[in-house]
Amino acid sequence: MAAKKPAKSKAKKSAKPKTNRPLVVGTATAKPGTKATGWLQLAELPDGQPLQIPVIAVRGAKPGPTLWVEACIHGDEYAGTFIIHEFIRRLNAKAMSGNVVAVPALNITAFQAGKRTSPFEIHGTGDLNRNFPGSADGTVTEQMGHAIFSAITKTADYLIDFHTGYVRETRWLLYANVEGEVGKKSERLARAYGFDVILPAPPTTLGASAFMNAAKRGIPAIIVESGGFGPAFDDRIVADSADRLVNVARMLGIVPGKPAERGKLTYVADFAWVNSRQGGLFRPTVLGGQRITKGDVVGRFYDLYGELVEEARAPASGIVLTLHPGPMMTTGDTLIQIGVNPREV
Ligand SMILES: [Zn+2]
Repeated sequence: MAAKKPAKSKAKKSAKPKTNRPLVVGTATAKPGTKATGWLQLAELPDGQPLQIPVIAVRGAKPGPTLWVEACIHGDEYAGTFIIHEFIRRLNAKAMSGNVVAVPALNITAFQAGKRTSPFEIHGTGDLNRNFPGSADGTVTEQMGHAIFSAITKTADYLIDFHTGYVRETRWLLYANVEGEVGKKSERLARAYGFDVILPAPPTTLGASAFMNAAKRGIPAIIVESGGFGPAFDDRIVADSADRLVNVARMLGIVPGKPAERGKLTYVADFAWVNSRQGGLFRPTVLGGQRITKGDVVGRFYDLYGELVEEARAPASGIVLTLHPGPMMTTGDTLIQIGVNPREV
């Protein structure tokens, strides 16, 4: 009896604080069954002000896994920010078993400037999604990557990173197809999200991205490409993706309810990505999601006299993931991205 009693009370003690522990990310502290907002400091701005990003922490009433959702790692991909806000509005912390951490504007300086990359980067690339896991004493973007990645590895059990393509009908996703359980769980995230075009991304794809580094550290991860950059998205796209996030949260057991089964989905083997070698006025002739065959006309270039200069042709067969919307095309712009070798899984 004497030996049993302390063991019992010890187990009770360790369970209780865990259940009641608040979820803390930066200055956001959410007690069980509540939502809190705050800031996560990444670096410092030229005027000495903190370079910090907004964080929303939703702590379920009951313990469970933590889903981390993030947007605008590329600063002008605003659709993800709105999707995250809509998802958060749909959550009821009191009914949740687990947590959601939402970071709606990761590269905040690029976000403010309406650009993809940081305006303060001089020596590096300034592309935050090429600067993970980052470095505490690197360039400004590497330091941002380091601070964000530290918070991710400390907090997240699953990660969803929102991006956009060029055009509003962009809807496909990648999962981190790494070895073992993490790869399998990443695929489960992808299927619960349920966009019809899915790319299983090998570990060499986007090696310095947040999503692949998270997966390499044992955090199942997907990238969602939903909507177009800048203002190229609408409320229907936002609502659809928020529904899909709720379905992921259901699959993880964070939100109550049975997750929807998606049936067969289309997997692509890789993407073919071609830059334009022609400048001019460009008019696309295909849409995102459309199936095309190598050699099909995907758009036309005109000169400033109104003459047709050239027809752009598909470099590969497959599904259009996204393409340049025109009307202004310089050489080197991304012309088209195609998911190749589609198959049903
Ligand atoms: Zn992006």
